[in-house]
Amino acid sequence: MLSDPREALQYADAPFDGSDGDIILRSSDKVHFVAFKNILSIASPMFCGMFTLPQGVTPDSIEPSSRRQIVQLSEDARAIDIMLRACYPKRRPKITGMEDARIVLELSRKYQMEVLQEIAEDMLTAIIPSNPVSVYALASHYDLTDLAARAATFTNFLESLYSDDLHLLDGKQFYLLVHYRQRCSEAAISTTANWTWITTFPTAMFQQAAMQLPSPCNCFPADSSRTKIISRAGTAYRATHWWWRYIEQTKGALKDMPSGHVVSDPTFLKATLDEARACCNCKTRMDGNQDALRNFAQVFAEEVDKAVVQVSVKFLLNGHFVVTVASLS
Ligand SMILES: [Zn+2]
Repeated sequence: MLSDPREALQYADAPFDGSDGDIILRSSDKVHFVAFKNILSIASPMFCGMFTLPQGVTPDSIEPSSRRQIVQLSEDARAIDIMLRACYPKRRPKITGMEDARIVLELSRKYQMEVLQEIAEDMLTAIIPSNPVSVYALASHYDLTDLAARAATFTNFLESLYSDDLHLLDGKQFYLLVHYRQRCSEAAISTTANWTWITTFPTAMFQQAAMQLPSPCNCFPADSSRTKIISRAGTAYRATHWWWRYIEQTKGALKDMPSGHVVSDPTFLKATLDEARACCNCKTRMDGNQDALRNFAQVFAEEVDKAVVQVSVKFLLNGHFVVTVASLS
């Protein structure tokens, strides 16, 4: 027989290993955490209810040395450590990675602990840019719609929606993400349906259609309703063939990645400038206004982003109810 009954139990690391405390939480992997009922009761309505109700006593539910009650939990020691550190007025527990975030959100839901949800949301918000699909999956699964909407907007920077955490999404929720991306693409491409957002028409790329001037080179297509560009003020312009090709290529790129940065990608702009410089007249005009295309692309990119941010993100709640959240920039 052991001289000290405590030696028969495995205790957690400090500060949950001490003699201070009036309740012991036992993890699924049989680690014992010494804690305070009043702190747990304040942090969690579920613990509050648990400690209010009379508990049945068995030989296994009492610590032999102190007669303190032992509560068996289904979580492992890692999860209980995070939960207790979140409750105590000390430094917040550090959580890293999606598995930690999942554990914390599960604890938050089960034990109704707002502080845990806050910790998970802070961590997930920080990793949205690097892992938007996983954050979307986790946030959707736990009905954190604002967080999921923010993550959805960042999926527009991705070429693929694959993520190791897709198993958290049911098929309908994944469909809603794919559908969101499609609607973002449509919104992005719709910016080329009219040109009232173009603020300046540099002669390097444009020519007023109504001036009846001879074309400076063969790069300007003949007037037609399809190629006519009407400004916000109602003035009609023509644009060079290579400018139109740039627009067509951006539409293709925006279909795959509906984000403003696509249209101002330097590689994209260089290819267009190379084409322009193949014509000596266009080269002369572009050399006289070297920022013309880049400035245009910047305004274009802003217009694309303004259109995409209007697209709402839809969610399934309670398995069937769909809500929409305005997409956040
Ligand atoms: Zn030309």
